Amino acid sequence: MRTVIKNCNIIDGIQNNPIRNAHIFIKDDEIENVTVGNLENVRDDDLILNCTGKYVIPGLIDCHVHLVCDGGKDPQSMIMASDDEMVTLHAYKSALDTLRLGITTVRDLASPGRTIINLRDAINDNVLVGPTILASGPAVCMTGGHVHYLGIEADGSAEVRKATRKVLKDGADFVKVMATGGIATHGETPGSSQLTVEELSAAKEEAHKKNKMIAAHAQGLEGIMNCIDIGIDTIEHGIYADEQALYLMKEKGIFLVPTIIVMQRLATSEAVPKWLREKAEAVVEPHQKMLEMAIKIGVKIATGTDCGSPVTPPEYYFDELTIMEDAGMTPMEVIKSSTKIAAECLGLKDRGTITNGQKADLLILNENPLENLHTLKNRNQVIKNGKFVQ
Ligand SMILES: [Zn+2]
Repeated sequence: MRTVIKNCNIIDGIQNNPIRNAHIFIKDDEIENVTVGNLENVRDDDLILNCTGKYVIPGLIDCHVHLVCDGGKDPQSMIMASDDEMVTLHAYKSALDTLRLGITTVRDLASPGRTIINLRDAINDNVLVGPTILASGPAVCMTGGHVHYLGIEADGSAEVRKATRKVLKDGADFVKVMATGGIATHGETPGSSQLTVEELSAAKEEAHKKNKMIAAHAQGLEGIMNCIDIGIDTIEHGIYADEQALYLMKEKGIFLVPTIIVMQRLATSEAVPKWLREKAEAVVEPHQKMLEMAIKIGVKIATGTDCGSPVTPPEYYFDELTIMEDAGMTPMEVIKSSTKIAAECLGLKDRGTITNGQKADLLILNENPLENLHTLKNRNQVIKNGKFVQ
């Protein structure tokens, strides 16, 4: 049996205008065919869903989440007080919440042990319902480095090489490295560099040897330049990237995953400690300006939120989208950054667009998101791997 979404408007992730009066044929977990005009070749046992006036977009992608963190005021304490089994159960709740919002694929960038790798496998094996997860496993960081409780501490090229090999051996889809300090770890500044060029280079070499991509937490300019020098694949946050850095990122095809919303949340929440709020307050403005400059320059921007971080549960994904629009992107550009470009950022060729042969990860919307991105937030029908999400 197939599912046919009839008479809809498709925003396919590729074209600049919606495709009107279109029909999507779904067979098993894939888009079998997309047609326009009269509905033909329907079979008796097809399930037909009339979507006149509705809009269909590819399932949304979040390129930067932390499923082990619950987005409450102090996720770190929960992780520190729990064993890996309990952490994984909490992560499953975050994953299911995320999928129900219409975010059908996520990249999880730092988790302890095999927590998220096991969750990923359970979802892939249809033991659990959830979004497709690409997992980095523990992040590789220097001793005492940024969010070290979610990482493997390694110092010097040899140790970093070994730590990278270890996370890849344990099943990581991606390697995550900490190139600078950050906001959420007490006693460090986002501008300070952490892993050195030599260490970053060793990690990149090992990742690429296994055909895996490497993502760097990089907020200060020196650390960002180190990442650009060694040919990193994606820069996370990028707060203090200047014009030169952004031009180099564009030239080398390095993706920027901005995660602006998390800083705004931390900077304005009374629920987080004062030191954390003050550090976040200091970066909100430069972060926003950097995003505006990156859009003007034409850096490849893939949507990512850092959801799971303190006071930032998964539904804040949609605030990141309106921040991107306010910074200068059109609604269509925001949708592409959250679908097609996000899939490219993750190295996934089987999703991100509505075309034949792609995974049937879809969102059915009652209103036109190009007129109002907020409509993405409303409860919509979500299809994951060809099945309606309950
Ligand atoms: Zn993060």
